[in-house]
Amino acid sequence: MFDKILIANRGEIALRVVRACREMGIRSVAVHSTADSDAMHVRMADEAVCIGPPPSDRSYLSIPAIVSACEISGAQAVHPGYGFLSENAKFVQILEDHDITFIGPTAEHIRIMGDKITAKETMKALGVPCVPGSEGGVDTLEDARRIAAEIGFPVIVKATAGGGGRGMKLALAPEDLAEAFQTARSEAKACFGNDEVYIEKYLQKPRHIEVQVFGDGKGGAVHLGERDCSLQRRHQKVLEEAPGPVITPEMRARIGKICADAVAGIKYRGAGTIEFLYEDGEFYFIEMNTRLQVEHPVTEAVFGVDLVREQIRVAEGLEMSFTQDDLEMHGHAIEVRINAEKLPDFTPCPGTITQFHAPGGLGVRIDSALYDGYRIPPYYDSLIGKLIVHGRDRPEAIARLRRALGELIVDGVETTIPLFEALLEEETILTGEYDIHWLEKWLAEKYA
Ligand code: ADP
Repeated sequence: MFDKILIANRGEIALRVVRACREMGIRSVAVHSTADSDAMHVRMADEAVCIGPPPSDRSYLSIPAIVSACEISGAQAVHPGYGFLSENAKFVQILEDHDITFIGPTAEHIRIMGDKITAKETMKALGVPCVPGSEGGVDTLEDARRIAAEIGFPVIVKATAGGGGRGMKLALAPEDLAEAFQTARSEAKACFGNDEVYIEKYLQKPRHIEVQVFGDGKGGAVHLGERDCSLQRRHQKVLEEAPGPVITPEMRARIGKICADAVAGIKYRGAGTIEFLYEDGEFYFIEMNTRLQVEHPVTEAVFGVDLVREQIRVAEGLEMSFTQDDLEMHGHAIEVRINAEKLPDFTPCPGTITQFHAPGGLGVRIDSALYDGYRIPPYYDSLIGKLIVHGRDRPEAIARLRRALGELIVDGVETTIPLFEALLEEETILTGEYDIHWLEKWLAEKYA
């Protein structure tokens, strides 16, 4: 049993891990930059180590600083949260070399899923349905033309090393292909140092549906249903719900089993998310995230399990605390991301929180590191909290979300709270009939 875990992250997710550790009787070590000395995760953890100056590459992304913090504190394991080093295979390798356990999958699995072409080939071989497209990378414009003609326009050119919506270019018609191909390659080269690209059919009105999986690292795996994360702005999720409004129990069981069998097949360890585009009753794999997701609380709400606790258990080599048959889904959960951003452009809005009041009551959860007087530093992501509601069904969850948003007070900075208040007035949100493009179109009209 671990008696001390270091959390290589900050903000609400660091606090989330501190809470799981405390319930398990494990001591937690926070790390922080000098900009975060007064942060909540530092105050709530059992110990804290300063790892460097504000810029992330010199603190939260500094592998030597984090390994030193493990040595100073005597932590036996590292929880990476999401973002930062959570999907960095080199970090995992270095921790292993220092006999420190990484709470997550193996370096090899991170590497496989971090390269989108390899990920797609691996998943296809494991029986997971994929978006029709090129077999592997496409090196020349000539090949690109031939493949695009075969699959039919529109197509999307994607970087194998891509992430965060970068390195993707759409070609609606044959005459757009040359430019899409060249720009995707040069953007990929500039952003990721790797210009390999592949081509996929561009789906026109899909939903983003992702399946939560969990593996024990020994060939056992389960799925915990899906989340619908179709409400996106610039490929960034803003609201997520579980279950997906259009997914039937039969579809859930079918795609869930495909995903659980796939990760069992590679002896995957820990939490993972298999992302799909979903259109006309079909699922198409796009990528796998080998970490805990921002939106994991909606899954926790409907299944009543603690995913972080489970991550820690399997990292220790223990069995998972549930089997597929134990997992039963109840009700409906919705998460909204509270960002310190100014509408309508979503410009980051760091500053001092003059008043913070968290909503409460049945079915309401707040994951946030805010407090009265907290100064949001300008160096990091603008996510400052997540509001998660759970109800017996979708209408009850929506009513609860509206009520909880009414109680929530975040004064001193601009936030995305008004966005959610406005969205809850929209018929499309109430019926759940949105696709991945709906929010962008709605924002363009509303703030035109
Ligand atoms: P990233 O790793 O950069 O987030 P993804 O492959 O996960 O890239 O794709 C991000 C988003 O881009 C998807 O959620 C979807 O909105 C859009 N997208 C990606 N591939 C396709 C496709 N083949 N057809 C339509 N939209 C796509």
